[in-house]
Amino acid sequence: MYSVRLWSVRNARLLEALYAVFETLLESLDPVFRRIGYRRLERPVAAVEKAVKSFLFDCRMCGDCLLSSTGMSCPMNCPKQLRNGPCGGVRPDGNCEVDPGMRCVWVEAWEGSRRMRHGDGILAVQVAFDHRSAGRSFWLEAARRRSAPAPEAEEAAS
Ligand code: SF4
Repeated sequence: MYSVRLWSVRNARLLEALYAVFETLLESLDPVFRRIGYRRLERPVAAVEKAVKSFLFDCRMCGDCLLSSTGMSCPMNCPKQLRNGPCGGVRPDGNCEVDPGMRCVWVEAWEGSRRMRHGDGILAVQVAFDHRSAGRSFWLEAARRRSAPAPEAEEAAS
């Protein structure tokens, strides 16, 4: 819902703090997720994630969430799905050139990032989007990624 999406950006700092707690919880649940099986969990967790994030962010379930780096403004709501900043067509009033009734998601992203404690992530250049991740749960991916040992650590241990 558009008004909720705008609320999320206005409250980016609060959501950043809540997600940090949630991410720690996800990481701690990794052993449980492994026991149950990540593949078995994929559909139900993705369904819950979609419901929650669609409501808060108009999430499109890209599977590679950038909200922490984009001021809680989902870049996939950009009609051009740009993930590295705005195109050259932002209107003088800050609205989108394709959808004049919508604020540019990147104008929103910048404003949201300025409210966040670690908002400078917006300055990082994102790698090209891998469409194979579309529809998958980023929450499960975050749990898996955060608890997986770094490749260097694995090499040193072997
Ligand atoms: S960046 Fe991807 S996962 Fe995150 S809210 Fe947008 S579509 Fe959803």
